[in-house]
Amino acid sequence: MADIRKIGVIGAGQMGNGIAHVFSLAGFDIVLNDIDADQITKALGIIEKNLGRQVAKGKLEAADADATLARIQKSTSMADLTDCDLVIEAATENPDLKKKILGGLSKDLKPEAMIATNTSSISITALAASTDRPEKFIGLHFMNPVPVMQLVEVIRGIATSQETFEAGKMLVERLGKTMAVSEDFPAFIVNRILMPMINEAIYTLYEGVGTVTAIDTGMKLGTNHPMGPLELADFIGLDTCLSIMQVLYEGLSDSKYRPCPLLIKYVEAGWLGRKTGRGFYDYSGDVPVATR
Ligand code: NAD
Repeated sequence: MADIRKIGVIGAGQMGNGIAHVFSLAGFDIVLNDIDADQITKALGIIEKNLGRQVAKGKLEAADADATLARIQKSTSMADLTDCDLVIEAATENPDLKKKILGGLSKDLKPEAMIATNTSSISITALAASTDRPEKFIGLHFMNPVPVMQLVEVIRGIATSQETFEAGKMLVERLGKTMAVSEDFPAFIVNRILMPMINEAIYTLYEGVGTVTAIDTGMKLGTNHPMGPLELADFIGLDTCLSIMQVLYEGLSDSKYRPCPLLIKYVEAGWLGRKTGRGFYDYSGDVPVATR
């Protein structure tokens, strides 16, 4: 495995900005790519704010924060990624979109470069097969928010080589994070368990068992979760939650994973949670307001 120094990140959304942040802070050169230039500008603003917070807490020197930002190059063209040693795909959770991105990317990358995906649920084996190098392909599933969360799920596709797996492990260690190894099954470990709970919370709302506030208060104070399931769904993004439920439902052919119709409606309405200003809560004011 060639030395990894330069890392491309495709998708500058909630996850892409966090992934760029932690790898740049660890000293890697970053190319942050998105089809939408505004998303990159927004991402750099978020990274700057989050680094500033670390400086204010005394966890980081101001000069290191500046150097971290300076190591991140903006990109709206896949051609900027050709000399990367590793590319991490963190675009929208949609299998066809990801396969298209990965297929287009791999033919221009140097042969020794490795590719990772941050997918929450989609088969690593299937995504690897859309590239020209399935043995150099791996799932590195970061948690949101990336600079704060300790875990990275590491997932091998059927063709992933031991060398690629070792490189994935080494990267997680370089970030000071902890890995959990999952087999390549729909939604892996964390979302196989978490997402049906969130879906059930949405059914609980849909059937009128409780209000948004009652459900979230119940789960926070009743089970000691730091966030209620509906608040967490808004934080993850309702489009991502729906896509993960669809992968579970189709991949495991079990009706217990049927996405709640209310979740589908919210996504149809474009109410995707925090990132669009409205989901189960309305985020337009100073404090989030429950909508049901
Ligand atoms: P997001 O909606 O915040 O960002 C997705 C980004 O991908 C957007 O900026 C969009 O412009 C960009 N994009 C779309 N098509 C593209 C293309 N062809 N080329 C380049 N960029 C493109 O989504 P997110 O929450 O950051 O999720 C990204 C990935 O991370 C998904 O696979 C998701 O499942 C996974 N993930 C999400 C979470 C979470 O809590 N949100 C946690 C772990 C993993």
